[in-house]
Amino acid sequence: MNIAVCIKQVPATESKIRPSADGKDIDRTGLSFVVNPYDEFGLEEALKIKEQVGKGTVTVISIGEDKTIEALRTCLAVGADQAIHIKDPALSGSDTHAIALVLTAALQKENYDIIFFGKQAIDNDSGAVGIHVAELMNLPHVAVINKLEVSPDDKKAVAHRQIEGGTEVINIDLPAIFTCQKELNVPRYASLPGIMKAKQKPMTIYSLNDLNIATDAVGAEKAMITLDQLSPPEKRTAGTALEGNAGEAVTALVRLLHEEAKIF
Ligand SMILES: Cc1cc2nc3c(=O)[nH]c(=O)nc-3n(C[C@H](O)[C@H](O)[C@H](O)COP(=O)(O)OP(=O)(O)OC[C@H]3O[C@@H](n4cnc5c(N)ncnc54)[C@H](O)[C@@H]3O)c2cc1C
Repeated sequence: MNIAVCIKQVPATESKIRPSADGKDIDRTGLSFVVNPYDEFGLEEALKIKEQVGKGTVTVISIGEDKTIEALRTCLAVGADQAIHIKDPALSGSDTHAIALVLTAALQKENYDIIFFGKQAIDNDSGAVGIHVAELMNLPHVAVINKLEVSPDDKKAVAHRQIEGGTEVINIDLPAIFTCQKELNVPRYASLPGIMKAKQKPMTIYSLNDLNIATDAVGAEKAMITLDQLSPPEKRTAGTALEGNAGEAVTALVRLLHEEAKIF
């Protein structure tokens, strides 16, 4: 069973995000970075399936600058067998379509039975790449899964997804693509031996040339969407605590709604 997990390195969840000076990106100065949390669910599921079937390879794949290697090494320390790092200066300014195109080219170099993505990357939040890759690869996919069972012959799977008021259960033929939601599992941590072993595990580096993608097929020039403005949410004003007994509080509330909020 060959399983790929596409991972993105993102600012740590506790980071205080500020827009960059031109308002077109985030200011990455001083931020610490982690593996996108939803991708960790994909990695954990891949490791569980490999343990369950007793054979196979788990490959983690990421597009990003040199720093991305830290995220890939973390995944190797957690238990992935090998990593693929895709980097190329021409990728700067790439939109979701270009990212999906490049991941597709890397994924098509091997035969994977299952490809996992996070349901979204917690920085850009498009929630698009996994589904886009499924379309480009012409593979069936189930998005936002919270449970997955692979058949003993590795040919089929049953995916569960939470929908409003219930659960959807979907039978799917493998190979297939899944995007992962947080209830899927509890990701394991890297152990000390895992961290030591990670240093010896293979890390392949691909450029666009290695993937037979022309440099002018991606990047800012080819972006089909533009980001006009990134701005922080408006600052909220402090709330007002109403004092006195219930009657006095209600009177004060009605006055505030009338005079300040001007609701009536
Ligand atoms: C006009 C424009 C210019 C941009 N310029 C840049 C730029 O210069 N540099 C830059 O870093 N970003 C840039 N971006 C953002 C970049 O396009 C997005 O990060 C990318 O399209 C993925 O979208 P997302 O992060 O919202 O992922 P989602 O669609 O929310 O991610 C879903 C899943 O896809 C997988 N995934 C996402 N990104 C990657 C990745 N890089 N490698 C492997 N798997 C991944 C993960 O499994 C993730 O959980 C730009 C975006 C636009 C619109």
